[in-house]
Amino acid sequence: MTIEDRKVVTFHYSLRNSDGEEIESSRKGDPVTYLHGYRNIVPGLEKAMAGRDIGDAFEVTVEPVEAYGERNPNNVQRIPAKHFPNARKLKAGQFVELQTKAGPIQAVIVKVGRFNVDVDANHPLAGQALTFDVEIKDLRDATQEEIDHGHVHGPGGVNH
Ligand code: ZN
Repeated sequence: MTIEDRKVVTFHYSLRNSDGEEIESSRKGDPVTYLHGYRNIVPGLEKAMAGRDIGDAFEVTVEPVEAYGERNPNNVQRIPAKHFPNARKLKAGQFVELQTKAGPIQAVIVKVGRFNVDVDANHPLAGQALTFDVEIKDLRDATQEEIDHGHVHGPGGVNH
């Protein structure tokens, strides 16, 4: 059996940015489980997974367009401080949730001024080429219910 659409894949990974700094790793805890072919992981990593088998270990570098996208300068915005209930307590680097017409989004505070707050709603990993160091730990067929839902149920997945 190898990885293809409708397989449930369990894997460990470490993630490095383009400076070679490790920014995430599953290896201190439980491995990650996902349903292949349903865009539950970044597209470049999902492509690199296809055809692998249990025990395979590999490294892949994924360009921004196949990961979290390019940085969009329009996602950096100046918002009047009065829109924040606690503007005086905000600090650069802090994450906040912004309410938009399209629903809530995560953003990071860039600068807090007297009248305005500058926020950056780009994904923190946008614009970065990411290197994944992966080891496949387990592989099984998805159940019909998982295929209908488009995600994994049970350990490592959604419980509902
Ligand atoms: Zn479900």
